[in-house]
Amino acid sequence: MTMNKVLLISTGGTITMVRDKESGALVPADIETFKAYMPELFAGDVQVEIEAFSPLLDSSDVNPDCWVRMAQTVYDRYDKYDGFVILHGTDTMSYSASALSFMLENLGKPVVFTGSQLPVGVLRSDAKENLLTAIEIAAAKDEEGNAIVPEVTVYFEDRLFRANRTMKRNAEHFSAFNSYNYPALAKAGVHITYQPHLVHYTATDAPLILHTRFDCNVAVLKLFPGIQQPVVRALLRTRGLKGVVLETFGAGNAPTDEWLYSELKEAVDKGIIIVNKTQCNTGSVEMGLYAVSLNLMKAGVLSGYDITTEALLTKMMLLFGENVDDTAKVRELLGKNLCGEITID
Ligand code: ASP
Repeated sequence: MTMNKVLLISTGGTITMVRDKESGALVPADIETFKAYMPELFAGDVQVEIEAFSPLLDSSDVNPDCWVRMAQTVYDRYDKYDGFVILHGTDTMSYSASALSFMLENLGKPVVFTGSQLPVGVLRSDAKENLLTAIEIAAAKDEEGNAIVPEVTVYFEDRLFRANRTMKRNAEHFSAFNSYNYPALAKAGVHITYQPHLVHYTATDAPLILHTRFDCNVAVLKLFPGIQQPVVRALLRTRGLKGVVLETFGAGNAPTDEWLYSELKEAVDKGIIIVNKTQCNTGSVEMGLYAVSLNLMKAGVLSGYDITTEALLTKMMLLFGENVDDTAKVRELLGKNLCGEITID
């Protein structure tokens, strides 16, 4: 019997960490130390090979160059493996995983992100369960030999989520991630129960396309009661700014101050793309539902529907990078569901 093959790409994160003797803080160890804690990796039904960043990183140091490195590794090794697992710190996992979901167009194999809340060497660690189940999911195929979840996903505690729907919700509990606006693609208990009807499939014969250009001239503007004009103006007049995630109240609402409308309108007229993203975790932007969102529509702010900030930021960065000088195209694609990141009726 041939074993399914999975490539484990380790970028670091708590799962790989040990305590530094001098500072007492957690720092990534090296990959050999990690492997020594995980003999099970090589004892199961799946053939696992490892590629590791050197040095391993805390995910606060993961940036778009690292996303390119991860996606490029998947792209270069695509034909050699049945699936991929990316070990990653939890702090920015949803950003990286969202980014890869947009970078790997026509993905037909699983790319599962996972990590842990406690280092692998700690007795009570959640590392082994998370990693071993992620590997099983990355290798899983149906009776016809097709990958069961050929998407970029995040596996944590006992749930498999679509990557671009996740956010880190908990710095304490083992259930560190949630997908508020889309159901889990699988649940792991005694058995792993998949929900194939929820999976985003691409045509099986479509070739994998890798997108790697990011433009980081974007910003997040979070509204709050009492926000002042100079703050908004300073951000919107940032030199080179191309896109803004505008975090609004409830169903996409904002204060009706005339100055806010003028600042937003001026920015949009200059070509800056502003997308309305609700501060609520669950639910969608619905501009026009309340009168307090009408000014945003009038100013030319786009709806982000039910997207996460992580997905919207990374989608914007990639669209600006790939469609240099074609703002109309970026606006059009921001309103489209590219790989399951938004719900549009
Ligand atoms: N600071 C760590 C990281 O994101 C936290 C973790 O992995 O849970 O790399």
